[in-house]
Amino acid sequence: MKTFTLKTRGRDSMTDITPQVREAIAESGVSGGVCLVYCPHTTAGVTINENADPAVVRDLLTILDRVVPWEAGYRHSEGNSAAHAKSSMVGCSARVIVESGRPVLGTWQSIFFCDFDGPRTRRFFVQVSRA
Ligand code: ZN
Repeated sequence: MKTFTLKTRGRDSMTDITPQVREAIAESGVSGGVCLVYCPHTTAGVTINENADPAVVRDLLTILDRVVPWEAGYRHSEGNSAAHAKSSMVGCSARVIVESGRPVLGTWQSIFFCDFDGPRTRRFFVQVSRA
């Protein structure tokens, strides 16, 4: 398993971590298998979506904000319930097929680390397993 550290910007952000995932797969020496990308935070997540048009990421963050407003009379005393909710909606991991030592992704797909309570220093793990 490889651990990466990431500094996020702004309260809500999506950072392309595909290069780090490619690096972890290359270092693992695994040619064919599965790669797990896991986020160990309760107000962040991992998802796969379009990276060709940056407006897609902005729209995704806008949509999540509309569905889960920051202030809405939540009970959690830390004041970041919206970030916890978005984390659960997005999920804390993604799995990608590995073939010929590379992640199998669609033309427009990238793997994103989503931070919903930034800016912070975050971690994520990449584990590559043989098929
Ligand atoms: Zn909290």
